[in-house]
Amino acid sequence: MLALLLVVVLAAIGCVLWFMREAVANERLAVRQRLSDAYQGQLAFVQRRVEEQWQHQLARFGAELPAPELFARAVEEGWADSVVCLDENGQVVYPRTPRPSVGESGEGETEQRELRTLVQAGRTDDAVRWVLERFATEGTAPLTDAQGRLVAPSAELLALQILGNSADERFRPIAQRLERRLNDYSSSAMSSSQRLFLMRELQRLAGDVQFSTMGAEELAIRFAEAHPQPILVNGLRPSELPGIWQAAAPGRRGIALFQLATVRAALNGAAQDPSLPPGVRITAIPPGEDALTGATLVTAPLGASLPGWRLSLALNDRAIFDTTADRKVVTYLWIASGVIGLMTVLAVFVAGGFRRQMQLARLKNDLVATVSHELKTPLTAMRALVDTLVDAEKFDEANVREYLGLLARENARLSRLIDNFLTFSRLERNKFTFTFTRLLPRNVAENAVAALGERANAPDCQLEVQAPAGLPEIVGDADALVTALLNLLDNACKYSPNEKRIALRVAAQNGSVEFAVEDHGIGLSPAERQRIFQRFYQVDQRLARTAGGCGLGLSIVQSIAVAHGGTIRVESEPGRGSTFTLGIPIAGEVTA
Ligand code: ADP
Repeated sequence: MLALLLVVVLAAIGCVLWFMREAVANERLAVRQRLSDAYQGQLAFVQRRVEEQWQHQLARFGAELPAPELFARAVEEGWADSVVCLDENGQVVYPRTPRPSVGESGEGETEQRELRTLVQAGRTDDAVRWVLERFATEGTAPLTDAQGRLVAPSAELLALQILGNSADERFRPIAQRLERRLNDYSSSAMSSSQRLFLMRELQRLAGDVQFSTMGAEELAIRFAEAHPQPILVNGLRPSELPGIWQAAAPGRRGIALFQLATVRAALNGAAQDPSLPPGVRITAIPPGEDALTGATLVTAPLGASLPGWRLSLALNDRAIFDTTADRKVVTYLWIASGVIGLMTVLAVFVAGGFRRQMQLARLKNDLVATVSHELKTPLTAMRALVDTLVDAEKFDEANVREYLGLLARENARLSRLIDNFLTFSRLERNKFTFTFTRLLPRNVAENAVAALGERANAPDCQLEVQAPAGLPEIVGDADALVTALLNLLDNACKYSPNEKRIALRVAAQNGSVEFAVEDHGIGLSPAERQRIFQRFYQVDQRLARTAGGCGLGLSIVQSIAVAHGGTIRVESEPGRGSTFTLGIPIAGEVTA
């Protein structure tokens, strides 16, 4: 039954733990869902703002400016990484391609020839001076060569190459003049390829010159080469160039070009929301990139101007999510622990109840078995004696006396047995009412010896009583104490098979009066000594045992000792005899 109970309790605990695990998992999902719902609105708001800002960024390209200026401004103000400007027919007007002169040679051919002659004649100083003076001011119509390249900046580059040494005092003014020309997008008709070439050369020669549009020029040229007839598409799309994205500017005046990092930075910047808690972050995710990481709570697609792009709201500090979920989880844990604790306590109670029921059932069985056996023995003996007397033809007085004596002994044995049963039963049911009075130990000892009756005077029995008169009084129930001592004396007789040398010594010891019953009988082993005070325990378990009794005597003695606040102990050795000592506390002054 106990094993069954254990299985049931363990199964129940297993169920509780399983339920709890499910509840915890559900709670985490629920918290995630709640947080998603809470942030959905915020994400939609940020999404609108990101789209607006993106449109706004592209709308700048609507500025009414000539193509080179639009290009320069867009790059300098960071509208895009580069721009390809188109005319109304969709033809590329910037990056500008060189326009070779048609028919006759370019107007700048004469100048170029003049300069070349000076250089070839080795008159380099004259050549440099010529460049300084001739191109100090630029006319309204800049001179170009046959390939459509501007003559002045080319001549200046040649002068710088001649000087070669930037320490020459003429180097710096020419370099600065060329730098100004290269940064001038308003009036210059320089082609993009010439500008890029000159930028690179000037950087190489002068070293410390930086051009903010150089990278953009390069990119625009690459794009124009890859898309000679660019197709305008709506929304931000990847271009043919790896890592470069393109978007048609409003009014179809150009194509804005972006590096992926630039778009990310622009969108992430627009997605910054100061109202979000510190752990929450919104980022833009390009098409093809996985938006769902472990920390992602909710995603939303960006509109038609950014096709395929998504905004992802992530809790990069999972503590927010975890603390919300953990608070609930802790509550569940408490409830589960409470339920398991309650079940365990209940199981312990039920097990205790079971145990008591089992003990009671065993007690009943023991009682029935012992009582029937022990009653049967004296009754059988008495019936045999009575039958013999009844069947006798004539009574012989000596025989009759002897038979009556035996009958009286069996009767006394029966009475003692029944007395013990009754005492035990009352003690068990807590119905035994003790009447405490002040008693003289000597009287108790004498009454017990008297109750032992004729057995004390039997020829094979030597009973020695030492009970001095001056012993201190004790408080106790006279009848109960006599019953206890009688049981000890009775046992001393029963378990001394041959020579019954018994002593009852009464002495005051350590605040108690001790009644010691000593015999020289069969004695007890240490293991037996442990168990003899248990109810129904008998060392000799055989039904055919010679000594009568039902294993209740010593348990009665112990109950009486406890009721008096006293003690019972045994010293014994197998084959040498035993001494049982009942200690009863000396009566105090207050109780007198
Ligand atoms: P019982 O009616 O069998 O005597 P008790 O409770 O009085 O029951 O004693 C329990 C058991 O303790 C006895 O069966 C006996 O084996 C052992 N016992 C009791 N007193 C003595 C003794 N003086 N010497 C040896 N064994 C004893």
